[in-house]
Amino acid sequence: MVGGSVPVFDEIILSTSLMDQVLSFQDVSGALVCQAGCVLERLSQFVEERGFVMPLDLGAKGSCHIGGNVATHAGGLRFLRYGSLRGTVLGLEVVLADGTVLNCLTSLRKDNTGYDLKQLFIGSEGTLGVITAVSLLCPPKPQAVNVAFLGCPGFAEVLQTFRTCREMLGEILSAFEFMDAECMQLVGRHLHLACPVRESPFYVLVETSGSSAGHDAEKLTAFLEHTLGSGLLTDGTVATDERRIKMLWALRERITEALSRDGYVYKYDLSLPLERLYDLVSAVRARLGPGARHVVGYGHLGDGNLHLNVTADAFSTAVLDTLEPFVYEWTAGQRGSVSAEHGLGFKKKDMLGYSKPPEAQLLMRQLKVLLDPKGILNPYKVLPAHA
Ligand SMILES: Cc1cc2nc3c(=O)[nH]c(=O)nc-3n(C[C@H](O)[C@H](O)[C@H](O)COP(=O)(O)OP(=O)(O)OC[C@H]3O[C@@H](n4cnc5c(N)ncnc54)[C@H](O)[C@@H]3O)c2cc1C
Repeated sequence: MVGGSVPVFDEIILSTSLMDQVLSFQDVSGALVCQAGCVLERLSQFVEERGFVMPLDLGAKGSCHIGGNVATHAGGLRFLRYGSLRGTVLGLEVVLADGTVLNCLTSLRKDNTGYDLKQLFIGSEGTLGVITAVSLLCPPKPQAVNVAFLGCPGFAEVLQTFRTCREMLGEILSAFEFMDAECMQLVGRHLHLACPVRESPFYVLVETSGSSAGHDAEKLTAFLEHTLGSGLLTDGTVATDERRIKMLWALRERITEALSRDGYVYKYDLSLPLERLYDLVSAVRARLGPGARHVVGYGHLGDGNLHLNVTADAFSTAVLDTLEPFVYEWTAGQRGSVSAEHGLGFKKKDMLGYSKPPEAQLLMRQLKVLLDPKGILNPYKVLPAHA
């Protein structure tokens, strides 16, 4: 997405894949301590066998390492429920540029002794230190999971459905994802996945996770009756068994794959105020006209995270010049972020100024110089050359 782990010039590649041991697990608190090279999916299996879940889940789980997840501050599908890694990571062990091993690998929920140094390394994309071990808090595994897939007549209704969802489902709401009609057409055309509800301009996936199947089903039914009755939805379906839940999630999770089969893809991952989130998709669609095959919007609506994707026959500088800097300027105009969850890496480092003021950029540069004076850690990434 942003080339964060791609060597470009003279870099040395460091692999942590042999550092794949779980070091400890506390089955009362759910605190997991493991080495940085553990694959996320394997950690998920490990904690699920003990009645817990990982606080994060994402499409790359079969190959990504927990160290990479922390280094990129990965968000993913459980963000709405369990919050960010900035809250669930309890401690880190990090090797600094001069070889010092910084052992902050505690499993404490509370530690108010001065600066919270681990936060510096979360989301630093490997530019401040090499994470070698992670301690994080795993929540108990939900006993009951339901997924509802819903059609909405417009984006205003998507937002109203989200509001109603939070009011009526409260603590059991664990995901609220959205996709537009063009996304659904693309997963149908390229992956042969069938739309489970009546064709609609927008679709929403709502997941609930709780401790009592009966209680959760009652809440979900009341929510669906209310939203269907008040015209917020065109149609809806609910899944409670694992196979159908997976099927409904696939419609959302496989959009990226469908887009890549459609042609060259221009990708943007933005944080925006909810009320304006889809306006950008409409503006880009109008701006590009027939210059694009598809302009689609989907994402983690509950987190204010829009994935704006444009497909075209092939890469063209004319399309790119129409998109950029327009997309970034529009986002900055809303005080949004030009990178919600995929970081800056190599490709987006020069966009930092759209989301951070000069004073913040300077402080970031000073921190980099302090921790890595020779610039040997993931060089050429994150910070613009001139910052
Ligand atoms: C199919 C797919 C779906 C995805 N969905 C989401 C999503 O929903 N939400 C989301 O937030 N992200 C998503 N991502 C991005 C994902 O968060 C990152 O790809 C992943 O977290 C990176 O982990 P990795 O082990 O692959 O790291 P790599 O790709 O190897 O590295 C990523 C960056 O982290 C640094 N790094 C890696 N390991 C360490 C370490 N031990 N110490 C210090 N720095 C390190 C690297 O230098 C590089 O800058 C998705 C990616 C894919 C491929």
